[in-house]
Amino acid sequence: MAKNGARILLIYTGGTIGMVRDYGSGSLRAFDFNNLLQQIPELHQIDCRIDTVAFANPIDSSNMDLPHWQQLARLIGEHYHSYDGFVVLHGSDTMSYTASALSFMLENLAKPVILTGSQLPIGDLRTDAKENLITSIQLAALTEESRPLVREVCLYFEHKLFRGNRTTKINTEHFEAFDSPNYPALAESGVHLNLHREALWRSPGRGQLKVHLELDNRVGVFRLFPGMHPDWLRYQLAAPGLKGLVLETFGAGNAPSASWLLDSLADAVKGGLHVVNVTQCRGGAVLMGQYETSSGLLDIPLIDGRDITTEAALAKLMYLLGSGVAPKSFKTIFEAPIRGEMSEN
Ligand code: ASP
Repeated sequence: MAKNGARILLIYTGGTIGMVRDYGSGSLRAFDFNNLLQQIPELHQIDCRIDTVAFANPIDSSNMDLPHWQQLARLIGEHYHSYDGFVVLHGSDTMSYTASALSFMLENLAKPVILTGSQLPIGDLRTDAKENLITSIQLAALTEESRPLVREVCLYFEHKLFRGNRTTKINTEHFEAFDSPNYPALAESGVHLNLHREALWRSPGRGQLKVHLELDNRVGVFRLFPGMHPDWLRYQLAAPGLKGLVLETFGAGNAPSASWLLDSLADAVKGGLHVVNVTQCRGGAVLMGQYETSSGLLDIPLIDGRDITTEAALAKLMYLLGSGVAPKSFKTIFEAPIRGEMSEN
């Protein structure tokens, strides 16, 4: 492992990390990223060249939308050959969604794209921003035999590097705001930076980076709950133009056996809607057929989301729909992992 003068592009999209507190007034103001090195002198100690680029209008990540993802993917694509790695500063609220989307949009990625942010602004005394930022840059700069060691879209937060499309935000208060319940951390930062090499993504091909900008957002999420009125589901399924739905089921992919529910879903699937079964549980996987309450879903048939997160399932739907995958192969293609977003069957 070496950190030998790597070139890193730091992209600021917005979020708490880019705020500094004015200790006179106590108010937060946006950080000037052009002066990053002056404001965080610790960055001088990292043996790499850091260039910065910021969104013209930095946003709270609750405002993240398709055009922002496209802008990010385009930026990375345009600068791909000039940098060894990319660190994206992003609000934590929707960071897992963006990480998931980018993982699909950047096919054959062979360099690190590490999203990070913080719970407290960079100018706060107890901030978590500096460690998150500094370690993300260090991880993005790691090389082995002149190749980047990390070659995927990741999320770094509170001492852990995760595969981005496996993460979910779990806490608004703790510094440990993210978890990757179904996939181990790729690296952990303690006294040493410990990389779990066996967990790192290695793309099956060695093709050129392909940036996919076409996403189709005619998708939705529907969460089952006991006592649901049948009209609620029927109303959602009748949304004009709906093409894909993430159905959040109970436990290992179970649902009420009521015929109104199974019939409504079966009609929607017959009508061309792609419905993915994911679990509401934080960890574990869907196993359709294990219980009688999921056999009906298996027969429809729903797409088996196994251990994918809702965030990654939504992004994968948008990506596959945007890529124009033929309806008859959609289920098979969705059920195969393409960026390490779900476990092999
Ligand atoms: N609301 C903020 C955002 O997601 C929170 C944060 O920066 O972590 O942009």
